[in-house]
Amino acid sequence: MKAMAVSPSQRDVRIVEVPTPVRRGEREVLIRVREVGICGTDREICGFHYGTPPAGADRLVLGHEALGEVVEIGSAVRSLHPGDLVAMTVRRPCPDEGCVACRAGRQDFCTTGHFRERGIKEADGFMTEFIVEDERFVVRVPRALADVAVLVEPLSVAAKAMVDLEAVLRRYPWEPLGLRALVLGAGPIGLLGGMTLVSHDMETFVYSLEPADSERAALVRSFGAEYVSARDMPLSEMASRIGAPDVVFEAVGVSKVAFSALEPLAPNGVYIFSGIPARKGPVEADLDDIMRNIVLKNQVLFGTVNASRSAFEASVRHLEQFMVLFPDAVRGLITRRARLDEAPSLLRQPSGIKQVLKLAA
Ligand code: BGC
Repeated sequence: MKAMAVSPSQRDVRIVEVPTPVRRGEREVLIRVREVGICGTDREICGFHYGTPPAGADRLVLGHEALGEVVEIGSAVRSLHPGDLVAMTVRRPCPDEGCVACRAGRQDFCTTGHFRERGIKEADGFMTEFIVEDERFVVRVPRALADVAVLVEPLSVAAKAMVDLEAVLRRYPWEPLGLRALVLGAGPIGLLGGMTLVSHDMETFVYSLEPADSERAALVRSFGAEYVSARDMPLSEMASRIGAPDVVFEAVGVSKVAFSALEPLAPNGVYIFSGIPARKGPVEADLDDIMRNIVLKNQVLFGTVNASRSAFEASVRHLEQFMVLFPDAVRGLITRRARLDEAPSLLRQPSGIKQVLKLAA
């Protein structure tokens, strides 16, 4: 079967032939891959800045945002049946007995760094025709979501952030009502994060580079958030012009921009980092000011990466809700569907919001 592979040692990005996987374990599931999303991480891997092939291999099969269909199940599989639509989690636990996170099935919080990630780190990914996976890492998706379910993985990142945000908000001995949220960046994670915040009843602003009359700005408005273009308002004027945000969800991956959005953060505010910046050397910032604000305003900053099975399940529930509230906006996130053999060129040129490879109907 065909697969989209990257060889960092050969500096090569191309479609290769790989053996079709065979289901062996009783808890394993054979899955036909239907669609796989392309994201910034895939592009970084294709630029050879990130990503590691499996031990002993010199190439990595890409892809971690997948929608599949169960073809065959092992005799001990309980939660899945042939024909089910499914999304797969990305991270696989480290082998260290001392890693409480991995032993608890929460490898998204792995403490050793020896986890593997399908399509990213030491494990082949989903840009191929069939995969075999342990039932624990496979989450069922309702058929009604079929045309947008490839978004379950990127949305799981926002879903996990919401769970942690809610834990932080519980520190107030009052019900926090009427929170204002600011999303930095209008890429897929920023837009899905914006939808998540809107659906949690927050007054949401999405801040990005595109002009206020762009299609992306219109999409933001269509799901009930306000769009603020960086061309019209510097971040330093944010608090005085639209009010200080209680929550910032960073999805821009540029440290200079990310840290400038700490300035408008409200007292007791929460700042969530989700972007992974490329290393470009030291960046200048007024650390005294940043630290004074964090302390004097009781602010909380946290980072979030990857997502647990429970966050994937929450992501499916969020997607169901979004499809009731603003279905066209959700569909509008997928701007192109292409064939697997178009992957090498699509990975080189980002365009639109979310590009998806269609492997099977
Ligand atoms: C994926 C996460 C992964 C992270 C870092 C993201 O693109 O969605 O699952 O943990 O990259 O490798």
